[in-house]
Amino acid sequence: MALLVKKPKGTADVVPSRSYMWHTVEQITADTAQQYGFKEIRVPTFEDTGLFVRSVGETTDVVQKEMYTVSAAGDSTFTLRPEGTAGVMRAMLENGVMNEGFPQKVYYILSCFRHENVQAGRLREFHQFGCEMVGSSSPRADAEVISLAKSVLDRVGLQNIALNINSIGCPECREKYRQALREYFEPHKDELCHTCRERLDKNPMRLLDCKSAEDQAIAKDAPVILDYLCDDCKAHFEKLKEYLTEMGIDFSVNPRIVRGLDYYTRTVFEFITTEIGAQGTVCGGGRYDGLIEELGGAKTAALGFGMGLERLLLVMQKQGCDFMEEKTCDLYIATMGENAVKKALSMTTALRDEGFFVEYDLVERGLKPQMKYADKIGAKFVIVLGDNEIESGSAKLKNMATGEQTDITLGEKLTEQFSQAMLNEMFSGFEDEVGGIIGKGE
Ligand code: ATP
Ligand code: MG
Repeated sequence: MALLVKKPKGTADVVPSRSYMWHTVEQITADTAQQYGFKEIRVPTFEDTGLFVRSVGETTDVVQKEMYTVSAAGDSTFTLRPEGTAGVMRAMLENGVMNEGFPQKVYYILSCFRHENVQAGRLREFHQFGCEMVGSSSPRADAEVISLAKSVLDRVGLQNIALNINSIGCPECREKYRQALREYFEPHKDELCHTCRERLDKNPMRLLDCKSAEDQAIAKDAPVILDYLCDDCKAHFEKLKEYLTEMGIDFSVNPRIVRGLDYYTRTVFEFITTEIGAQGTVCGGGRYDGLIEELGGAKTAALGFGMGLERLLLVMQKQGCDFMEEKTCDLYIATMGENAVKKALSMTTALRDEGFFVEYDLVERGLKPQMKYADKIGAKFVIVLGDNEIESGSAKLKNMATGEQTDITLGEKLTEQFSQAMLNEMFSGFEDEVGGIIGKGE
């Protein structure tokens, strides 16, 4: 097959046979967030370009190199969101959510767009599960948000995932730190990559987040922010560490984490695995106490995280984590002849209305291929309908796992009888299990 058009580089399709993996993470993330009192928020896929420049930061990789900015004839330009937080904060401000009392806790699952070098775990359209908590500057909020991310990772079954935390201070501690960094990097200026040379003056902390190996080697001995924290920021960080310990959450302090977006203050954190190559950061987040004011709101403390779902799924598959089972067909009605099809239509409707998963032949195939199809889709039961069955008003209900056949009447009592058959089926599995356990004890 010579396909005329293929998917854009860095995008991915989810084929039907694999969508259950996505359902698993979507369900676990949403359930866990709700259990922590977070409510879902939905925002547009594109926003005013200025929103990301203001919030993510002019000197970040995301804004300088990775944004997809689009325009339509006669309209202004927009940017496909490279991350979730900015749009979510914009929406909360614009809709007055911030006036409804604190804390406000929201979560979302959305796609992000970044023009990046495509690699395993680094796509141009990817998906994030994100959470944001607005209105608390307390380290309790930091511990709570980290605990939520950790619960999600635990519940999907991940192992060996390390939590690294750091504090990058407030604007006051950071000014002193920036100066120290400038002094450190200045003698190496000519060895730095082009982008970093330009950032040295404006935003030297970005140099610590550079992906170039040469720059990373130079940054290795750079001063660390923790030595520059003011007393308040230091105390905040100490409290967070105490709370995490109290919650039984293991962590390491890694003074090298600065995160790729400008809006972070104080706490930053990452959950990292070494099992999927270089793109090992499954979840990253932190506090951004200045962002809401930057967007025109009142000064309001806030924090959150973004979890990359493609990376999460990569690790889950690598570690052989369990996925949610897909629903499978309860009953397949095999038909022979037009009368049987008509009967199947009314039976199917009645059974589906009772909540059963029912299919019948849509391709006009013979009985043998229909049975093969029923087997392939894993139907629990099959009924074969022909002229004889229509005439007698009864048919055989075949249990596909055991091969056992029982009589079933086709009239009004059908759904009741089928419900009973399904219950028996469930119960027989249960009896086996209980029998097994009792058997062992004897
Ligand atoms: P990295 O350092 O790997 O580039 P980042 O700091 O740019 O990550 P964030 O902006 O914090 O990432 O986004 C949060 C999470 O989203 C990341 O931890 C990662 O799991 C995921 N993520 C970021 N960029 C991509 C991408 N291009 N493809 C897939 N997942 C991504
Ligand atoms: Mg990045």
